[in-house]
Amino acid sequence: MTRNTRRNAAAGADDVLTTHGVTVAFAHPTPWEPAQEWACAGADPELFFPTDAATLAAAVAVCEPCPLKQACLELAVARAESGVWGGSLLQDGQVLAAVPVRGRPRRTAA
Ligand code: SF4
Repeated sequence: MTRNTRRNAAAGADDVLTTHGVTVAFAHPTPWEPAQEWACAGADPELFFPTDAATLAAAVAVCEPCPLKQACLELAVARAESGVWGGSLLQDGQVLAAVPVRGRPRRTAA
């Protein structure tokens, strides 16, 4: 659902209320004007679901100057979100150090 809400955010103004930024503001009122202050407002939603280290770094760089960074991360953890929120990569609300490697797990010696 989170991935879809980010996609919807790019679709039109009627969907803006379902974006992560508005969710943050809704749950954590701030004095900031969303359209001006959310650094991710105009970013490609796919950027926040990185599949490699370079994309993760690009998403984290978008969040870096955001005044909502701390609140965004805390609320995303509370909602058990996945993706990049508040400059951190989450999976089901857990902070990950790196993008998980996909594929079959390595065979380990018995
Ligand atoms: S911290 Fe990042 S994901 Fe959260 S509102 Fe700011 S730019 Fe968007």
